Amino acid sequence: MPLNDSERRLASYIDRLHDRLIEDLRLHVGLPTGGDNRSALDETRSLLCARLAKLGAEVSMVPPAPRPSWLHDAPIEAEGPPTAVCSRIRGKAGPRILLSGHLDTVHDPSPSSTFRSLVINADGKSATGPGCVDMKGGLVIAVAALEALEACGLSPAWSFILNSDEETGSYWSEAALRAEARQHDIGLVVEPALPDGSLVTERPGSGQFMIEVRGRSAHVGRDFTSGVSAVTRLGEILVELSRLPDPPRGKILSVGPIEGGPATNVVPDRARAWGNVRFRDTSIATELEHQLLAFATDPGAMPAVIVRTSLNRPAKPATPDVMKLAEKAAAVAADLEQRLPFGRTGGVCDGNILQDEGLPVIDTLGVRGGGLHTPQEWIDLTSLVDRCKLLAILIARLADAGPGSFTPRS
Ligand SMILES: [Zn+2]
Repeated sequence: MPLNDSERRLASYIDRLHDRLIEDLRLHVGLPTGGDNRSALDETRSLLCARLAKLGAEVSMVPPAPRPSWLHDAPIEAEGPPTAVCSRIRGKAGPRILLSGHLDTVHDPSPSSTFRSLVINADGKSATGPGCVDMKGGLVIAVAALEALEACGLSPAWSFILNSDEETGSYWSEAALRAEARQHDIGLVVEPALPDGSLVTERPGSGQFMIEVRGRSAHVGRDFTSGVSAVTRLGEILVELSRLPDPPRGKILSVGPIEGGPATNVVPDRARAWGNVRFRDTSIATELEHQLLAFATDPGAMPAVIVRTSLNRPAKPATPDVMKLAEKAAAVAADLEQRLPFGRTGGVCDGNILQDEGLPVIDTLGVRGGGLHTPQEWIDLTSLVDRCKLLAILIARLADAGPGSFTPRS
């Protein structure tokens, strides 16, 4: 199906945004939103919300939900950042489209870091910078796509949810993500595409766990036999855990970091291990959780074992509605003479949480690049315009298709 007149207008409008998209990317990459750096997160959030408000979105800030205190990366700051919801669905016809993006990155925000800004390579076609592809490029094209739709006289019903803790599990924003998922018909997440531009159609689930052993401390030389080593018991548990992964079944468990014992001459009375699990479906998630919880003892036992689990990102299967959305995106790509193969990844994202609420979601509509989460993170700058057009025309077509084209929300 060739592009219709209004889609052609949209595409040529976005073609002219090339330089502006790069400048916007430079601005956002220069705001160090890693490491829960509140001032840069706040500034990024207000810049994006202001532009969405100009398009008529009602902006609200959802306060953070509590985050488990036992997580290894639990920040000192107890209160999390808010999640912004910019919504333009009230009074609008057509399916309600939820865009989702995260403002945070994994990169060191400190001024001493050498990886702090967008650096364009000599060929002008690619650039490096913290978060350039994951996912500042995605945020930049998503806002530009919504502005382009408006400029071309198209007015779909959308909301854009912007959270600040995706890279650390979205604990603070999970309730807001779930609440918005229930209010919408279609979810689009601007996580980076796979390196070849592929769209991810399915993802495993993921979760965190912590195992703490409490023993009895004693002087190693004077009183060794009255001690109960928490490190020894934790070591035994870790050996048993090493037998659990079964990757062909979609069951993965990794341990690390670990800690235990205050000094070499003391029988250690406390040891802890944290870990991550990945699972293909709910039954494997349940199996892993049972196997982990089976190590827990009565609190009065010696040694005592405490197990905490949080399997908060359920698996995201390729449901018929997800495949319908993916096919629509692929059709837009074909009409733009772009390739959009389908792929899968072992990674997780907020799409997992959104889809768990019954919202069909495709989630790698952002830009192309690579080196995610490393100091070599790079972006293919030509993908800014390509993917902005793909997203804008996809939104226009989804809005046109009417709510009946997707399974109605119950
Ligand atoms: Zn990301």
